Amino acid sequence: MPSPTLSTDIITLQNRIGGQLVASSGTEYTAVNNPSHGMQIARTPHSTASDVDQAVAAAKEAFASWKATPVLKRASIMFRYRELLEQHFDELAALVTRENGKTIPESQGDVRRGIEVVELASGIASQLKGGRLPNIAGSIDGESSREPIGVCAGITPFNFPAMVPMWMFPLAIACGNTFVLKPSEKTPLTAMRLAELATEAGLPGGVLNVVNGAQEAVERLCTHPDIAAVSFVGSTKVAEIVYRTASHAGKRVQSAGGAKNAMVVMPDADLDSTVRAIIGAAYGCAGQRCMAGSTVLAVGPIVDELVARLKDAIGEITLLPTDEHPDAGMGAVIDASARERLLKTIDHIEADGLTLVADGRKGLPEAGYFVGPTLVDGVTVDKDVAQTELFGPVLTLGRVHSLPEAIDWANSTGYGNGAVIFTKDGGTARYFKQHVQCGMIGVNVGVPAAMAAFSFSGWNRSFFGDLHVQGEEGVYFYTRQQVSFTRWDDEYVRTQGW
Ligand code: NAD
Repeated sequence: MPSPTLSTDIITLQNRIGGQLVASSGTEYTAVNNPSHGMQIARTPHSTASDVDQAVAAAKEAFASWKATPVLKRASIMFRYRELLEQHFDELAALVTRENGKTIPESQGDVRRGIEVVELASGIASQLKGGRLPNIAGSIDGESSREPIGVCAGITPFNFPAMVPMWMFPLAIACGNTFVLKPSEKTPLTAMRLAELATEAGLPGGVLNVVNGAQEAVERLCTHPDIAAVSFVGSTKVAEIVYRTASHAGKRVQSAGGAKNAMVVMPDADLDSTVRAIIGAAYGCAGQRCMAGSTVLAVGPIVDELVARLKDAIGEITLLPTDEHPDAGMGAVIDASARERLLKTIDHIEADGLTLVADGRKGLPEAGYFVGPTLVDGVTVDKDVAQTELFGPVLTLGRVHSLPEAIDWANSTGYGNGAVIFTKDGGTARYFKQHVQCGMIGVNVGVPAAMAAFSFSGWNRSFFGDLHVQGEEGVYFYTRQQVSFTRWDDEYVRTQGW
């Protein structure tokens, strides 16, 4: 297969099963585009249930010997993998930019966050150790350990082609499981390269498999009898379906969904750093982040100056093809339908009489799926745009009178991924933390996305399941506890005269 980083050919993706590239039996395809230019670069076959069965069979076969591989050997492969990812860091970032459209620094962040999970996985030995309590009863010692669970599946979205797959498979594999990854059909190239590098690092065939596809492949993964656990990240609608289907089929499931994250600005906020943080949170990755700041809630009289400063900062964001301009301010959105959906949303906002402080329909590059940074003032909590995940560079702003009103607004969406407050007062921040209903909170931090050492902790409609992705809970998710009690009587030693 030609290198997806450099080639101009349209590649037809294959699956990676048992360490080999295998043609998919799917006959339908999704186009993989370079969003900066709107040009097709590859096509993803919609693998069938029988392709999934083949991958699961390879993973099942590899499980016994991988589980029996000493944990330090598994960890050493993770160390080697980490080195390879570092060596190929720029190539991987360029690949993310090419298929996803985000800027090079954003793609570097995407790869970096993934590498951090591989680093966590490299130290897996100390996390798998259980506890021991000698003499828990007469002559009986108790001990516990964490054991792998079998074949695990991962289903991932388009917006973080490197990080989200790496939230899952490095930890699962380091724990002694084998894995089948189904990346987004819109951005599968990075996942394929990640799996290729894992093989190069010494991962035995069948330990990490990639099946390219869409709904049919996901449905089979969620019901396949030989899969023990399913990790999903994507929209709330699909997260809920995956959670219901896979848990009904008896699997453990962690299923992360969409979000609508509020950013509360208090009257005492430092406006310079607050504006920088809001711009990064709202327009970074063209707003296509589950931790994107979607709604600014300005408390009291700070609002007019805040809006003026945000408008100025938006005016400085350059829209450019990100693969050719590493210094581009913002990239395109993922595809033509996302662009059309967002432009229509802005039409509706205007028709609804809301104020477009910045209008993302104007001054767009001719090629590519660009939507400009948009700021909407005068939004009220009952509006659709205040409640719906827009997943693009459209930031809504509500004028509120008090912190409790801002918190009620933030909680009204029913999501619970992230919420942010900008203030100089610790008591205000503490009140916010105690009353806002979500899993990840920023205090003077625009994007409080959990990094590898912490689990990514969405709540409510942003997460279905119990144990979250990556971090300590990730290790718990991919292992089960074994407890043993052993009796050895001293009497025997005495009778032997030893
Ligand atoms: P998506 O739900 O459309 O797709 C995610 C995965 O589900 C893909 O692999 C896709 O092939 C599969 N899929 C899509 N429709 C399906 C169906 N009907 N049945 C079975 N499988 C299906 O999500 P997306 O558009 O790729 O990603 C954007 C969404 O992901 C946003 O809502 C964003 O907030 C969310 N997201 C959440 C997190 C988080 O940690 N909570 C992180 C990243 C992205």
